[in-house]
Amino acid sequence: MKVPMKDKVLISEVGPRDGLQNCKGVMPTALKKTWVKGLYDAGLREIEVGSFVPPRLFPQLADTAEIVAFAKTLPNLRVLALVPNLRGAEAAINAGVTSIGFPLSVSETHSVKNLRQTHDQAIENVRQIAELIAAQPKASRPEFEGALSTAFGCSIEGVIPESKVLNLAERLIAAGVDELGLSDTVGYAQPLQVKRLIRKTREVAGADRVKSVHLHNTYGLGLANAFAAYEEGIEVFDSSQGGLGGCPASPGASGNIVTEDLVFMFESMGVSTGVNLDALIACRELLSAGLPDEQLYGMTPNAGLPKSFAK
Ligand SMILES: [Zn+2]
Repeated sequence: MKVPMKDKVLISEVGPRDGLQNCKGVMPTALKKTWVKGLYDAGLREIEVGSFVPPRLFPQLADTAEIVAFAKTLPNLRVLALVPNLRGAEAAINAGVTSIGFPLSVSETHSVKNLRQTHDQAIENVRQIAELIAAQPKASRPEFEGALSTAFGCSIEGVIPESKVLNLAERLIAAGVDELGLSDTVGYAQPLQVKRLIRKTREVAGADRVKSVHLHNTYGLGLANAFAAYEEGIEVFDSSQGGLGGCPASPGASGNIVTEDLVFMFESMGVSTGVNLDALIACRELLSAGLPDEQLYGMTPNAGLPKSFAK
């Protein structure tokens, strides 16, 4: 079946979570808020602002509840946070997130290393979180997304069989997630694989349940993979400003695809992102103000917008 391509897409900025959790420095809370506000003012309408994980393990994300509360004051912003367990989900609901994400690593070795959970334990956690969400009053009930991490390969296990991805996709849906995301945690994916896995996952989970991809740029294929996903009708794309990111439990994983370059690709194709590129590029200074030692990546910010670019 030919899936219609969208004339607009949603860019989900994950820098404040995926980016910051992999930085050595800790961004001061006030500067983090300024950065999030800057991203919002540039037109981003979905931001993953943190994770509800033990502050002892991730001091960079210790202020997630405060950042969620701040982000919720920005009209029409979808505020996302990751949680590893029921306790995290309780904190996320109390903070008032729009959507909760649970990262389930298809590589069980990575799952144990990253979340200290086997697949069975992770699925049980998902089931409990879904139950907790269902028990909330409808107005304050967050959406629940299961992210299939290492779906395209793992820097510990190597090849990840697609049958495993599909089996866990089914189990996540059965355990109560609303939607699934496919994550290339370590940046091993190539475009034809992206297309194939999106199609197959939609076959088992339902087309309307697979809406987003999370891509890393380790081998420079990030934008090619994003375009492949777009051609399959994917409408939500994770990326991070300056290409920050990685995974502490995945040796060799490099940063996320760069938001500036992703927006440039879509806008230059005439696909609306709602993001003003000049304003987005200006936000890099806010990011650098909070993390002066962090190197920022991005081809578009370095080259500047081409004269042919229609704003
Ligand atoms: Zn990531």
